[in-house]
Amino acid sequence: MEHKESSNEVKLRRELVRFSKWISRLGFAPGTSGNLSVRLDHERLLATPTGVSKALMRTTDVVIVDLQGRLLSGTRRVTSEIGMHLAIYAQRQDVDAVIHSHPPIATAFACSGRALEEVLCQEAIMTVGTVPLAPYATTGTDEVASSLWPYIPEHDAILLANHGAVSSGKTLLDAFMKMETVEHLAQVALIAHQLGSAQPLVETQIRQLRRARNAYLDNVKANQQ
Ligand SMILES: [Zn+2]
Repeated sequence: MEHKESSNEVKLRRELVRFSKWISRLGFAPGTSGNLSVRLDHERLLATPTGVSKALMRTTDVVIVDLQGRLLSGTRRVTSEIGMHLAIYAQRQDVDAVIHSHPPIATAFACSGRALEEVLCQEAIMTVGTVPLAPYATTGTDEVASSLWPYIPEHDAILLANHGAVSSGKTLLDAFMKMETVEHLAQVALIAHQLGSAQPLVETQIRQLRRARNAYLDNVKANQQ
């Protein structure tokens, strides 16, 4: 398949490799698990392929797929988990990157029927908000997209029952930081409950934090104009 790369594509291939290595280093993608994707344009995605260790990913392993998940270019095969990514891109025009991985503590929550809905850290409100748990679905089937579907409009990070987590953002860095934060929040929740005196934030504190967050975002926007 003849394929000429734009400079944008070269940059995005490098970013896919960079963040694949990051999630691998953090222990979020053991074996060949986990997958990352990014919009190349309005009709195409760049994605990590099936069967490749994220630690060993190279830019030439990346595949190009359409918004139905069909292979357009590349020497490797498309991941069977691409449906998860497509469901998010279909509903979120504001999202340009998706990361799926198996961070161990967040995955333990997902294997114990526990969402990250209790707000323990202020940081949660400033970043990913609450993280819901999508019901059980067999990996690699259409069930996964259906189980995630209702949570996608309101959440940038979602746990998948007995499986792992998925995060989305404007860039791969953005999606990566959300994945990192989900694992951090899970770790804090686990230890706070082990300590036996976890003190979740109350409604008024959460409201104040939301106000602070909105003021911060308005400020960022004003500085960009
Ligand atoms: Zn998975």
